[in-house]
Amino acid sequence: MISPAIEKLMKEHEEAMVIPAENVANVMKEHPLEHALLLLSQAGYSTIPVLDKEDHFVGLLSLNDIVKKMLGINGIDTSNLEELTVADVMKTDVSVMRPDAELEDVLHLLVDASFLPVLDEEGIFCGIVTRREILKAVNYTFHVFDRKNAETKVIFHANSPS
Ligand code: AMP
Repeated sequence: MISPAIEKLMKEHEEAMVIPAENVANVMKEHPLEHALLLLSQAGYSTIPVLDKEDHFVGLLSLNDIVKKMLGINGIDTSNLEELTVADVMKTDVSVMRPDAELEDVLHLLVDASFLPVLDEEGIFCGIVTRREILKAVNYTFHVFDRKNAETKVIFHANSPS
């Protein structure tokens, strides 16, 4: 279990930990795969969330999955992408989290995923929590925790009889 003092400090960073949906590159599941390939390369990320028309999170699309589809017997062939949509190659078995998830559960899930999609109770995509943002919050927490500990020691020394 994470100590309440640590969890409280981490939560001071909570808002910064979630990248809101409007700042997250995404694709629609109905998009043609060729179009998604362009989007992915422009976004500069290897994996991005897939949404439906009502903004529900439905899966993840990775560059790797598209490249695998392009591989033919004569090497890379983009014509293999014709007729395919994002829904044909996206991964649907994905770890996700609620906005009020326990920090401990989030940390466990981020061991195996570089980011977690954040969904509300209706499955609407709210944003992502990335390993990078969590590590920044951990770094902040360690520093503040250290500083608070040092302050407590100074107060303790100041109050103790000489
Ligand atoms: P990071 O921890 O910042 O390296 O991000 C980990 C992964 O999260 C990236 O490789 C992307 O798959 C995803 N990601 C991070 N930021 C964004 C974003 N703004 N839009 C889409 N995907 C993102």
